[in-house]
Amino acid sequence: MSETAMNRTILSAQNLVKHYRGGKLETPVLEGLDFHLEAGDTAAIVGASGSGKSTLLHCLGALDTPTSGRVRIGDVDPFALNEAKRGVLRNRQLGFVYQFHHLLPEFSAEENVAMPLLIRREPKAQALAAARAMLERVGLGHRLHHKPGELSGGERQRAAIARALVNQPACVLADEPTGNLDRGTAESVFALMLELNRELRTSFVIVTHDPLLAQRCQHRYQLADGRLSEL
Ligand code: ADP
Ligand code: MG
Repeated sequence: MSETAMNRTILSAQNLVKHYRGGKLETPVLEGLDFHLEAGDTAAIVGASGSGKSTLLHCLGALDTPTSGRVRIGDVDPFALNEAKRGVLRNRQLGFVYQFHHLLPEFSAEENVAMPLLIRREPKAQALAAARAMLERVGLGHRLHHKPGELSGGERQRAAIARALVNQPACVLADEPTGNLDRGTAESVFALMLELNRELRTSFVIVTHDPLLAQRCQHRYQLADGRLSEL
């Protein structure tokens, strides 16, 4: 990889402000936050419940509009695009993993993982083949036809990680991906994400409550009072 490719900024925020407004209520959450992630890097974000970690990931992932400030996915301002183009950018550049897997209950693991490719209209056979390969990579080659309800908690998160990675995004945003798992399972799911980071060079931003897991990321930040500080 060339020097410039290695040092490419994949995700950044500058002076990011997010206040929620509902009627007369105004909730300030992000207060001029800066964030910067290079291609291939891993960043952990820790912070108290309610400190704005999910809000930050939603703004970085262009799922929610900041009140002010600048977000860049690669070198693109997602909020300068219309909704449809923003969706395409998200689909191609980003993958999302949540605390609760958000797999579709009526579809098999294979179909769930193929979904991002089907959404971008890849041929079904090709999408399913890519899904199988990714499920095998996360250790679920023997669970292709299981539905989410037939998988364990750890298996569901592995499937959710496979779904996030199947379109080969530059960066995965993971919001407490191990928050609902027991210690040992959380360890192995976290280790899987770091392995995938090393192998595929996908960047990861991982929100976690667990300081021991956070320590394994290259960059560690604490979110408090609407800003990030390095740990
Ligand atoms: P965390 O993920 O760190 O627990 P969140 O980003 O979910 O924190 O929430 C940060 C703060 O913003 C909380 O006080 C929460 O109540 C508030 N909040 C989150 N979403 C909304 C919303 N849609 N409308 C109003 N307030 C919200
Ligand atoms: Mg949250």
